Amino acid sequence: MKVKSCDCCGNCCNKIIIEISNIPSEEERIWWETRGCQVKDNYVLIPFPCPNLMGGSGMDGKRKCWIYDKRPLICRMYPLPESIKKLKAFGIECSMI
Ligand code: SF4
Ligand code: SF4
Repeated sequence: MKVKSCDCCGNCCNKIIIEISNIPSEEERIWWETRGCQVKDNYVLIPFPCPNLMGGSGMDGKRKCWIYDKRPLICRMYPLPESIKKLKAFGIECSMI
């Protein structure tokens, strides 16, 4: 089986996706959306990039984690099936999935 590789697009670090405990009510969904977020099922996409995401304008166009060697545990665990579900919920592309 061919192993898929990361092409350093930065998509997984460019927006923050959190899982909330329940599918939000209509009122809760509107609360998130009026604050610029998107809601799909029980996921909320917050449209801010991680402040450690650098690059994208250099020769190779790649985006890199500024603290890669010290990145948080949740980043080291990527791509877990749960993270992939979050990306897919919002149609975010990743060369590894
Ligand atoms: S710390 Fe690094 S790997 Fe984690 S979200 Fe930020 S840029 Fe991405
Ligand atoms: S979205 Fe996928 S391909 Fe892009 S940086 Fe993240 S892991 Fe790599």
